Amino acid sequence: METKIFKIQSSDDTQAIAEVAEILKNGGIAAIPTETVYGLAAGAFDVKAVENIFIAKGRPQDNPLIVHIADFDSINELVSSLPDSARILAKKFWPGPLTMILPKSDKVPLVVTAGLDTVAVRMPSHPVAAAIIRASGLPLAAPSANLSGKPSPTNARYVIEDLNGRVDAIADGGDCSAGVESTVISLAGDVPRVLRPGVITVEQLRSVLGDVIVDKAVLSQPEKGAKVMSPGMKYKHYAPKAKITIINSSLERYIEYINENATENTAALCFDGEERLMPLKCVTYGGENDGMAQAHRLFDALRELDEIGAQTVFARCPSSDGVGLAVYNRLLRAAAFRVVYLFDE
Ligand code: AMP
Ligand code: MG
Repeated sequence: METKIFKIQSSDDTQAIAEVAEILKNGGIAAIPTETVYGLAAGAFDVKAVENIFIAKGRPQDNPLIVHIADFDSINELVSSLPDSARILAKKFWPGPLTMILPKSDKVPLVVTAGLDTVAVRMPSHPVAAAIIRASGLPLAAPSANLSGKPSPTNARYVIEDLNGRVDAIADGGDCSAGVESTVISLAGDVPRVLRPGVITVEQLRSVLGDVIVDKAVLSQPEKGAKVMSPGMKYKHYAPKAKITIINSSLERYIEYINENATENTAALCFDGEERLMPLKCVTYGGENDGMAQAHRLFDALRELDEIGAQTVFARCPSSDGVGLAVYNRLLRAAAFRVVYLFDE
């Protein structure tokens, strides 16, 4: 298939936005920039188009998609009930990188929700995403625009690498600001529950809603065959080709560990400013105390590790507070939950 590539610098590029919207209205699938990562979009009510997303990505059929809207009222046709908590969160965090899980309406096809009776809804703040949604006049179902299993793409170059020839269009809107996928909160149970951390933090959600649970799948590996609340969390996700191990230790112990264990194709995934201390090839992913910068850099850094041919990677361990929780959650999956704990004597 021929993939049309559009450069869309801003929501003023109305011609290109209209062309992408037209492709979507006609049942095509298009990668679009959002403030989190690039999404691979289709009209949410178009079963065939949504099926094509799963095919293009090689995505397992039981991993549901997020439905993206540009105006709050569009949520009404997607959900069967709207709790006050959803209105409160929308007022505070939409448009923005927060996805809410709510009871689905009959209108949302089961292919979008992977058979679940809930639907994930988000209103992106990226002006190009909002403009494409509005121009199409449709809610857009979209997972991240990567091949299944690869790190989510934070710029168009990586979307092209994964999906050129597999989708109808790619809208190149530059770099994504957040760099990790949206925070996912379920409002379908008794107590709000974070299923996936993101740059909107658990602390921020608690400050608005009070009681908020963090699902155990955020930091632990689901057991084989276990039923998980967020199907996406059970897959080996975000993974580069290299075998990553997270080293939870001081910088000094980390360097010692590298000196004792590195082989020819080992690389370091470390924090900004630590490069000069590294005895081997390294890629950095933000400052040690800067969760936002780490989130922004992590997926690019994982792809860069592949580009430099790293076969094993020793990664510095991020904090799991605030935005750090989202970074640690993704890095844990990239490392298939391999963590070495080294404490100073
Ligand atoms: P992606 O945008 O590629 O990260 O994929 C969407 C994410 O949203 C996946 O991790 C899904 O598990 C999650 N998700 C979508 N719909 C639901 C739902 N109804 N319940 C729980 N998680 C969902
Ligand atoms: Mg994804």
